[in-house]
Amino acid sequence: MKKLVFATNNEHKLHEIKQMLGKGFGLVSLGETGCTEEIPENNDTLEGNASQKSHYVFEKYGLDCFADDTGLEVEALNNAPGVYSARYAGPQRDSSDNVKKLLSELDKIKNRKARFRTVISLLINGQEILFEGIVNGQILTQARGEKGFGYDPVFQPDGYTVSFAEMELDEKNKISHRGQAFRKLIDYLNKL
Ligand code: IMP
Repeated sequence: MKKLVFATNNEHKLHEIKQMLGKGFGLVSLGETGCTEEIPENNDTLEGNASQKSHYVFEKYGLDCFADDTGLEVEALNNAPGVYSARYAGPQRDSSDNVKKLLSELDKIKNRKARFRTVISLLINGQEILFEGIVNGQILTQARGEKGFGYDPVFQPDGYTVSFAEMELDEKNKISHRGQAFRKLIDYLNKL
């Protein structure tokens, strides 16, 4: 069985993708490869960060690998917070501070168009392939819903009247940026 590392410390993401992937791949976590250090992520694009993480694991541990990076891109804010989504309101990486800052930046702004974008970098058999998933929507004027994480309470996907935080996880995964990008990755891997 071919070993493939998912360069994430997020157990939830690892579990989700393990369930979607066929039996041909032995998906291993960063911890299982002996990598306990923080992987550098200091690019100014999602593509750059995803690629930096997959290359780090390959160069240090010699294993095929994939890594993801996600950002919320708000049209009226020139695509901010984008790659800085996790630390928009500061290094404490606090979701409610981030949401508060976003709502205040958009105060009185009519154009609420936004999108979540996920990029995955797969480094396999000496080749890098990028996969992208996008979901378009609107930033609400107030937080709604208790589910999910991050900016979910203020993001309403196009075609829906509920925020991501008001959706069940499996419903969100069907349309989400990450769901789309991971399905593209899985289709590719299952054809190898
Ligand atoms: P990551 O690259 O998946 O760690 O995402 C970076 C940041 O983007 C997170 O810390 C969240 O603030 C935000 N984010 C990513 N995905 C989602 C989502 O599905 N809902 C809400 N916020 C998200």
